[in-house]
Amino acid sequence: MDRANIVIVGGGVVGCAVARAVSRRWSDVFLIEQMPKLGMGASTRNSGVIHSGIYYPPGSLKAELCVAGNRSMYEFCATHNVPHRNCGKLVVAHDDAQEAALEHLAENGRANGVEGLRMVDRAAVRAREPHIEATFALEVPSTGIVSAEDLVKTLARIATDQGANLLPRARVVRLDPRGDSVAVTIAEEAVNGGGSGTEETIEARCVINCAGLYADEIAAMLGNHGYRIYPVRGEYCELVRGKSYLVNNLVYPLPHTDAFSLGVHLTRTLWGTVLVGPTADYVSEKNDYERNRLPVEEFVQRARPLLPEIETADLQLAYSGLRAKLVPPGHGGFADFVIARDVNVPQAIQLIGIESPGLTSCLSIADRVVSLAAEILV
Ligand SMILES: Cc1cc2nc3c(=O)[nH]c(=O)nc-3n(C[C@H](O)[C@H](O)[C@H](O)COP(=O)(O)OP(=O)(O)OC[C@H]3O[C@@H](n4cnc5c(N)ncnc54)[C@H](O)[C@@H]3O)c2cc1C
Repeated sequence: MDRANIVIVGGGVVGCAVARAVSRRWSDVFLIEQMPKLGMGASTRNSGVIHSGIYYPPGSLKAELCVAGNRSMYEFCATHNVPHRNCGKLVVAHDDAQEAALEHLAENGRANGVEGLRMVDRAAVRAREPHIEATFALEVPSTGIVSAEDLVKTLARIATDQGANLLPRARVVRLDPRGDSVAVTIAEEAVNGGGSGTEETIEARCVINCAGLYADEIAAMLGNHGYRIYPVRGEYCELVRGKSYLVNNLVYPLPHTDAFSLGVHLTRTLWGTVLVGPTADYVSEKNDYERNRLPVEEFVQRARPLLPEIETADLQLAYSGLRAKLVPPGHGGFADFVIARDVNVPQAIQLIGIESPGLTSCLSIADRVVSLAAEILV
């Protein structure tokens, strides 16, 4: 049986950031990813926004790791030439009640340590976004966008250069805690895709669960049945090329009051296209990206308060992603990231419910995981 210091389950942006961070300090690090390539889950099916940290309750992990992750992300991208842009964003209001809610959001952001927030009037909004309807807006200068695909690739390359073994097309199928280690059984896909693959077991001193939507199932393999992930689909449309001039940067409505999602927003990507979305609807399967997609008209209706000129012919359907939510349907409310050693299997670190702002926070999440791993690998 092979031995490892660390086995990471899942090669999304979080698993790759963790692989980079732990392989700086420890040898014999393995990352296991079931898909043919890294980052094919939520990590490349998102808005690519580097969030500022205004939305989350002060004192929460989401607030702390988003604000820290935002700063680390800009530094990392600049150092390693990952395409990104610090374009800022506007959260817009349409009446006095919404303006009061914006003030409240700004207070929350300041309490979280977000810098540079300021309210701007209609004229300032129009100067930046001539086609956007708003009476007031909150300007958030630290928001930006990043190429998630390049970020994943860069993190993976650095981890590999530091000696980590990144194994795509390999699925963790069993985890057996054994005193001070965990036996990790991996099923590898047959190279030609035909016939059955092989199984292999690695004995790991530390296992890190970065399995995204499947993190509850990985926790259950360790005997922890206390978590359940509910997939929530976010669908996008895109403005047709000839209409992308309608949006210059990032424009958001006020978020849902129950913290369920940030609301359908407008995102100008690094490639000059404009995304409209994502929506937020529970689905029953963790691989259900496309069944019963919402019609384009639905996006027109939701975007029109921000962009009154928008017509059905201006939009085409784009991709969708699945959020790894800890909040069950019908409950509403805020759920924080879970990043902790397992109570019964202390050699395991659980990362559960890493939904937005998980992309923004991946580097600060990884720093936190290093501290937990250091307790295990003394
Ligand atoms: C619609 C949408 C919009 C979003 N927008 C933003 C945004 O603008 N900004 C932001 O900061 N965040 C955003 N997020 C959140 C962000 O995308 C996620 O928090 C982040 O990608 C989570 O990364 P991850 O590595 O934990 O998960 P994933 O990318 O899902 O990676 C988990 C990996 O684990 C693998 N895996 C699972 N089980 C096994 C197994 N048994 N064996 C081997 N491998 C396994 C999976 O194949 C997968 O590749 C958004 C999310 C969605 C869905």
